[in-house]
This record gives sequence, structure tokens and C-alpha cells, in this order.
Amino acid sequence: REPPARESVPQAGDPELRLLHRVGVVDPDSLDDYRAHGGYIALRNALRAGPAEVIKQVTDAKLMGRGGAAFPTGRKWDSTASQPVRPHYLVCNADESEPGTFKDRILMEGDPFSVIESMTIAGFATGCAKGYLYIRGEYPRATRRLANAIAQARERGFLGRSIMGHEGVDFDIEIRRGAGAYICGEETALFNSIEGYRGEPRSKPPLPVEEGLFGKPTVVNNVETLVNVPLILIEGGEAYARIGTERSTGTRLFCLSGTVARPGLYEVPFGTTLRELLDLAGGVPEERTLRAVLLGGAAGGFVRPGELDLPLTMEGAQEAGTTLGSGVVLVFDDTVNLPAMLLRIASFFRDESCGQCVPCRVGTVRQEEALQRMAGGKAPPDGDDLALLREVGQVMRDSSICGLGQTAWNAVESAIDRLGTLSKGGPA
Ligand code: NAD
Ligand code: SF4
Repeated sequence: REPPARESVPQAGDPELRLLHRVGVVDPDSLDDYRAHGGYIALRNALRAGPAEVIKQVTDAKLMGRGGAAFPTGRKWDSTASQPVRPHYLVCNADESEPGTFKDRILMEGDPFSVIESMTIAGFATGCAKGYLYIRGEYPRATRRLANAIAQARERGFLGRSIMGHEGVDFDIEIRRGAGAYICGEETALFNSIEGYRGEPRSKPPLPVEEGLFGKPTVVNNVETLVNVPLILIEGGEAYARIGTERSTGTRLFCLSGTVARPGLYEVPFGTTLRELLDLAGGVPEERTLRAVLLGGAAGGFVRPGELDLPLTMEGAQEAGTTLGSGVVLVFDDTVNLPAMLLRIASFFRDESCGQCVPCRVGTVRQEEALQRMAGGKAPPDGDDLALLREVGQVMRDSSICGLGQTAWNAVESAIDRLGTLSKGGPA
């Protein structure tokens, strides 16, 4: 069953929305309606400006990736565009799987043509004639709408050869569906999946901008990152950069769930505080007491009730010892059994580890076992489970091949160090 998309967007139609401004307003199945709501103005501007100017505008905007790692998009595009090897590929990473994340689904279901237009601009700027849209297999409605958008765009000359009548500007998109593996959202595992191999990450370097899909220079962008691009091409990079803060520009989508009055998807400028964001969602219900907020998802970190004035910026989150990640905000009250929740996270990582490298394959199992013993009040066979968790966590962080293993201990460590969870006599 698919949950209704619109119920997750309480602010639909709000004039202050930028990324979500068409969601819940435009007919997602109609190219004409998309155009009536400002669609394809940005692509026209891009085609007039030329690839170098498009990259300059994105660089001036200081756009950073919204998949989790916040790498500067302009730099990534420039690196791909300047590679002499051909062809270049574009990949839109729509394998949104971080627990608690649903922002890309809302964008794809509610405004699919904007994803297609944004990919076309990115492909034009970086010299790609082909783009792959790798979408999570559990997103059937988004897949249907995107497939329909691609077909309509192709039929009307917005995809294919000589886009919008510009001779020599060719770009097309193919959809590839994931099959339920979290690890296939990791960019190099995703390449393997598209190429027909087992979805296992590759060692980096070489970076995808040099040697990516089919061994060719490849630019990989998250859905939310891409849908910022039309805004930049309509208002200009410098104007875009005036929204948010000096280092974190633009707006950001946050996925709120847990103990808040109105869970759902919220768009706010960077620099909004966590308290303001929670207030937008109606705050913690009166009869409940806030215990902690998990920022950045399973690989993120906990924020305590006394730290809610934390500004939601990349740098603010980093200073607080966490990350904004892919925009996950999980709110816990004091009735939540945190050790059980940490065990759930550990089981998730153990389950989703691809098993390719030892630190992660073994470490995620050892981590889960220790948490199981601790949750059951059992003593370890020898030694101290807290010390074991730290040792195993550090080894995973230092020596795993990819981000899954490197971050599999983050939330557990944060709960121990910041909330006192699992410590002897400490709160649950
Ligand atoms: P990363 O820091 O290795 O890379 C980020 C991006 O920048 C990649 O595309 C990489 O190729 C590129 N890059 C890095 N250095 C570069 C350079 N010098 N030149 C050009 N490009 C360069 O991070 P990652 O492992 O790709 O991603 C980790 C993030 O993924 C985590 O922060 C996590 O929050 C997030 N994540 C998101 C989801 C989701 O569902 N959205 C799921 C799991 C993890
Ligand atoms: Fe696979 Fe884990 Fe190693 Fe990543 S860190 S390659 S998920 S075993």
C-alpha cells in the first residue's frame, strides 16, 4: 500500500515554499500544467547561457548536496565537465532509503517534471547525453509518475535529440529501479547495480567524476539537490545564495517524525533553529516530555532538549557533533525505550551491510550482539560491553570501505556520550 502523498505536505500552496511550491498544486501527470506553473523556463535560460555559465551560477549559489554529504555541487559539475574522456553520465540518486527520510519521494510524486527538467539542465552543463534515474523499488507511484513525465517530455522535445530546438543538445533519461537494498544508494554500489553486478561499493578513489558508471566520468546528484537548480537558473546564483546563511545557502527539506503534533515534510531556510522547526510541526504534545532528537538519521547523532536553539546549518550540526544528513528529524519522548531503539538501528545496519569488507561485516554483528546483551541485562562472557562497543565502532569507522560501515556506530556512540544511555545507572 502507498501512503497518501499530500497528507505529508501540510504547507502545500504556501507562497514561501520554494522546492515544494508546486507539490500539491500542480497536476503531476501534466506537462502543460507544469509549464503553466513555471516549468521549463529554467532549461530555456540554461540553453541560452551555455554549460560554463550554468556551472558558474550553481557555484555562485554555493549549492551543496542534499543526499547527506553536502559536497559542493558546482565543484562536482565542474570536475565532470572538464574530463576529456567521453561519454559522461549523469545519475540522479533517487534510492532514498535512510530510515526516516521521505523528502525525495514527495518531490518525485508531487512534482516529477521538475526532476526531469533539473536532470536535463545538469546533463547539459556537464556534457552528458544520457542520464539514469535510479529509484528505490519501494516507490511505485513516484516511478509511474516519473516514467510518464519522461515519456511526455520526450514526445514534446524536452528530451531526446535537439532539446527545445537546440541542435546538438541531446539528452535522454532511463529509469532503473532498485530491488530493496539500502547499500545500492551508495553511489558506487549504485553503478554496479546499473551495470548488472552485485550492489557492492567500490573503493574510492577513483572518484565517480573521473571513473564512475561504466568506467566513465559520472556526476551523481540527489533528487533534492537537483530540484534546487531551476531556482538558481531563474533567479541567479547570487540571489539564491542570499537565502539561508553564509555557508549553508538556500532552503532545506526536513522529514519530521516521532513525538511531534504534525509529523511530515517541512521546508525552511538554512539557519532556522531546531526549536523553530519543531514549533512549525506543532511541537511535542503537552502530555509528553521531550527526551532527545535524532538528527541526520541512523548515521547521525542526538540533540538534547537543552540544545534546541541549534541552527540548522551544515556547520551548526557539525559543531553539535552530528550532521543534517538527508534531513531526518526523529523526535523521542521519555516513554521511548532508547536501548531498544539503538538495537533496532544496529540490526538495520547488520542486515544492510553488503558483507564485502570484514570490519563492517563482522563489526555490525558484534555491535548488535553487545546491544542485545545490554538490552537483556546480561553480562558479557568476558570484559565490558561498553568498551567492546567503542572498540568495534572505532574499527568500523576507521577501516570500512564505505559510509555504511564508517557510520554504523554513530547513533549508538552519540546516545552513550550525549544521553548517558547504556551507562551503568544511566537513564534508559
Ligand atoms: P562522500 O563524502 O564520500 O561523497 C559525497 C559526494 O561528493 C560523492 O558524490 C562523491 O563522489 C563526491 N566527491 C567527494 N570528493 C570529491 C572531489 N574531490 N571531487 C568531486 N566529487 C567529490 O559521501 P557519500 O559516501 O557519497 O555519502 C555519505 C552520505 O550519504 C552520508 O552523509 C549519509 O547521510 C548519506 N546517506 C543518505 C541516504 C539517503 O537515503 N538519502 C542513505 C544513506 C546515506
Ligand atoms: Fe559493504 Fe559495509 Fe564494507 Fe560498505 S562498509 S562495502 S556496506 S561491508
